[in-house]
Amino acid sequence: MKNTCLKFLRLLLCAVLLMPFTLFAQQDADAAALMARVAEAMGGSEAILGVHTLEANGYGLEAYFWGGGNVTGDPMAPQKWAENPGMSSIWDFDNDRYLTQYRHNFLFPFGGIFGHSFALSGWGYDGNVGYTITENGNGQRLANWSTAGAWFKPDGYAFRRLEALSHPLAAVRAVLSGKAQAQNLRIENDLQLVDLVIDAGRATMAIDPATSLPRFVRWSTPHQNLGQLVLTTTFAGYQDWDGVQLPFAWSSNIDWRDTQIQTRLLDAYYINSDHTPAIGAPQSILSQPLPQAPASFPEITATEVADGIWHFNPGGNTVVEFADHLVMFELGGDVLGARAAIARANTLVPGKPLTHLMVSHHHFDHTRGFRAAIEAGLTIISHRGNFGILNDMASRPAPNFGDMVLLPDGGRMDFMPVDGRLRLQDDTMTLDIYPVVKHNHMANAIFAYAPDSQTFIEADLATPANQFSFWAEAYEDNLEHYNLEVRMVSPNHVNRPMTHQETLEWIAEGVPNAIARCEEYDERGRNLPGCPPYLFRNWNERQSRE
Ligand SMILES: [Zn+2]
Ligand SMILES: [Zn+2]
Repeated sequence: MKNTCLKFLRLLLCAVLLMPFTLFAQQDADAAALMARVAEAMGGSEAILGVHTLEANGYGLEAYFWGGGNVTGDPMAPQKWAENPGMSSIWDFDNDRYLTQYRHNFLFPFGGIFGHSFALSGWGYDGNVGYTITENGNGQRLANWSTAGAWFKPDGYAFRRLEALSHPLAAVRAVLSGKAQAQNLRIENDLQLVDLVIDAGRATMAIDPATSLPRFVRWSTPHQNLGQLVLTTTFAGYQDWDGVQLPFAWSSNIDWRDTQIQTRLLDAYYINSDHTPAIGAPQSILSQPLPQAPASFPEITATEVADGIWHFNPGGNTVVEFADHLVMFELGGDVLGARAAIARANTLVPGKPLTHLMVSHHHFDHTRGFRAAIEAGLTIISHRGNFGILNDMASRPAPNFGDMVLLPDGGRMDFMPVDGRLRLQDDTMTLDIYPVVKHNHMANAIFAYAPDSQTFIEADLATPANQFSFWAEAYEDNLEHYNLEVRMVSPNHVNRPMTHQETLEWIAEGVPNAIARCEEYDERGRNLPGCPPYLFRNWNERQSRE
């Protein structure tokens, strides 16, 4: 009896120990069976494996900074979109190549020509080389992951691999050809989910049980401002195209505020067609070594703007000295640059630590270094309206990307809100922080002003990009509104302090270009966003007389 009992216990233990494995094995077998049904619904494995090149051509939109570039950080602020005409995504399955290309133009006024140039850019991989390429064939090899892609979006070889997998035919074909393993079948919100495991990473595909067609593909990506994001690409409008079911539109959302970041609408597919160009990467790209993260940041020069006020280059940060501590205005830059700016500030005046960061506005290029400020325990000073978005940036975790995004567990923000004027004052320094008025690039923005030295500290107010000066009046509008006299400007986007007069001349450079751009399109009856520019001062007088 004792013996039988022992045997039974052993069996039970064995069963308990094996249960997870048999369960997983069953889920994987079910995943494989489901993928076979999906292949059948899409036209059959033979038809799918018979697709050797796939070209999807169309157009779409992209959210500026993936939702971090709107007029305010309010979740209900309307999305600022860039248009992407000339979109073409090509898969060359036999040669293990992928390339997506599109043009880019902001549907809102922007100060730099590059925002309105309709430049064609491409991203893809050729074998194990990820790359980005411009219209004239210049290209850069991509690291495995990066948080510094175009417009500071995530990028990298793994990013492009997973993006290429985010199309039903590519994904199902990868499973059929053995390049992806389907695993872990489960149910979520009435959809069947399977994980697709490839060499470069892991994605999850959802299948609509009613049609057995893929509904979405999602995967995780690092983001310097937002920690870790889940990016979900959802397919719509399946139709038969040369014997396979293909979606005619798709869009991508991130799990931060469920923001729609990209839309793609097609004009046509081409399958195994002479129309499709070869997409091998140029040898000049293939021969590049894998980019390595730089080990050090260039030395930061601190230029004295006025007594107790310094301007950093590179970085464009301004540091203000109080009796026993320092306060910084603006902290963009990559992880290395942001940490270097904080370290430089902490050695600027012996015995005086950096304790506060003023954030001019929430735009992701201006808050790229934000998590470094949280890491350093700085108190954040910004417009009260930025609390929510800055708190998101401080607290979102990045569990899978702790090697490249700061605060993998998320952090905690100490916040000092600016409502009206906020005065920071002790025996040695008075610094006033004001809400920006009359500025169509950014509401909920602040600038700082030191009345004793008449120093104006700003970002995107006096010196946004000046190739098109769509915001020419904003600087003087703010000075008039708050009745301020300025001797020196400490700018974020210009690499040196400037006098008031130099600042006016700098702004004036882009005024004729903004006017000309609007007039050029008005003549064709194609009125542009931001036109006519809001201008009423005499800008000819402000042109440099050099
Ligand atoms: Zn901005
Ligand atoms: Zn800016």
